[in-house]
Amino acid sequence: AKRIVLAKRPQGAVSAENFRLESHELPDPAQGEVVVRVHAMSLDPYMRGRMDAAKSYAKPVEVDDVMEGGTVGEVIASNADGFAEGDMVFGMTGWCDHAVMPAKELRRVPDGVPPTAVLGVLGMPGFTGWYGLTQIGQPKAGETVVVAAATGPVGSMVGQLAKHKGLRAVGIAGGEKKCAHAKEVFGFDACLDHRAYADAKEMRQAIAGACPDGIDIYFENVGGKVLEGVLPNMNTFGRMPVCGVIAWYDGAGADEPNKLPAAWRSILVNRLTVQGFIIMDQWDRLNEFLSEVAPLVADGTIKYTEDVAEGLENAPEAFMSMLKGGNFGKQIVKVA
Ligand code: NDP
Repeated sequence: AKRIVLAKRPQGAVSAENFRLESHELPDPAQGEVVVRVHAMSLDPYMRGRMDAAKSYAKPVEVDDVMEGGTVGEVIASNADGFAEGDMVFGMTGWCDHAVMPAKELRRVPDGVPPTAVLGVLGMPGFTGWYGLTQIGQPKAGETVVVAAATGPVGSMVGQLAKHKGLRAVGIAGGEKKCAHAKEVFGFDACLDHRAYADAKEMRQAIAGACPDGIDIYFENVGGKVLEGVLPNMNTFGRMPVCGVIAWYDGAGADEPNKLPAAWRSILVNRLTVQGFIIMDQWDRLNEFLSEVAPLVADGTIKYTEDVAEGLENAPEAFMSMLKGGNFGKQIVKVA
């Protein structure tokens, strides 16, 4: 079997030398375990955090250990009650083509759901968009929501749910092609290309133009120049679910001038609610999400876009590209 391990911790941006493709002997499944042949693997921004040793909400991947990640695949041998060869399952197998897993750590792919959907629109990222928008964002019809990484699995869920609930949805995405996709496929009312604005001031003016009534909910995915441009456009009593700050994951911004005073004052005078969240804490709400959103996916109200890289060996390159916006939709790696 093959797997990809963390070869070396990155300093700043991730490079190919941080990963190593290895062959290894797969152990026989013990009682309660199954062997999974991985069909598709999810690549997600959180994996960048696991590569650092710094204290965070989850333990880092150790050097020489398999990279953490969720996959969907097929049971090819079972030593566990209730699981049989051919069952489609998903779970945290890591970056690999086969894995021996305790059956209790796997979930079944629901009937009628395309297997890769459990990695994106109906999986962790879609759940993240639903949770942050509905539980923290408290959306009300007629309000305006802004979200960046608008064509990714989190941002596209936020935008589409917001539209479904009668809000104005303004996306921010990298490049004209992504912006056109955000409007035409995901139904955003407007989408701004963050690469077209040189600095936070230009970003702020563009956001003001796209949000004539101000912003009630800023779903924070990126930090950086977008956040700076958003803050002065927030309405009083606005909400900011803080989901991710991908612009800073590689350490960028650490040597910039301190902008905290202006940001903090803006939170005060506008009486903003700013709440960070980690979706891992919320698994008990998953069924609530699925019962609301799975029918909307099934009837085509909520659409999703996947970007599929071919082959486990190409996962590191696809991952590095995604962190810089090279993905067009949910990044998946086809393994088998
Ligand atoms: P995406 O598929 O949207 O991929 C990441 C995207 O981030 C890129 O495609 C790029 O989009 C955008 N991006 C990268 N660098 C920058 C930058 N400097 N400025 C602006 N945008 C940038 O990812 P996901 O939908 O999976 O995740 C979105 C966010 O949600 C991430 O921050 C992630 O860490 C976070 N997250 C948090 C969770 C939680 O529990 N709190 C759970 C899941 C995700 P573009 O080209 O359009 O700019």
